[in-house]
Amino acid sequence: MYIGIGIGVAVILVAVVLMLRSRKGMVGGPVMLSHLKCPKCNVEFDYAYLPGASFTSLRLGGSRFLQCPDCHKWSVFNLIGTRVDPKTHHCEKRIGPS
Ligand SMILES: [Zn+2]
Repeated sequence: MYIGIGIGVAVILVAVVLMLRSRKGMVGGPVMLSHLKCPKCNVEFDYAYLPGASFTSLRLGGSRFLQCPDCHKWSVFNLIGTRVDPKTHHCEKRIGPS
C-alpha cells in the first residue's frame, strides 16, 4: 500500500518536471522591444524582453536597471516611453533574453 503511494508521488513529480521543462522550451511569446540610449556613454541599443518576465534585470515599475552593452555600466532605463515595434525596428546592438 505504501509502495503504491510512493510510486504515485514519483509519477506526479516526473510529470511536473516534464511540464516545467516543456514550458521552458516554449519561451517565445510576445516579445517587447525598447530602443534605449545609455546616459553614460550615449550609445544606442535595443532591449528585447518578455512582459512580466525578468531574468536579466531588476524591475522598477516601467523602468529597469540594465547594464549597457557597450560601456557595461548600470543605469535605470524607462522601457515604457521607448517602446518600438520589434517587427520593423532593428538596431545593431541588442540585448535581452531573445
Ligand atoms: Zn553605455
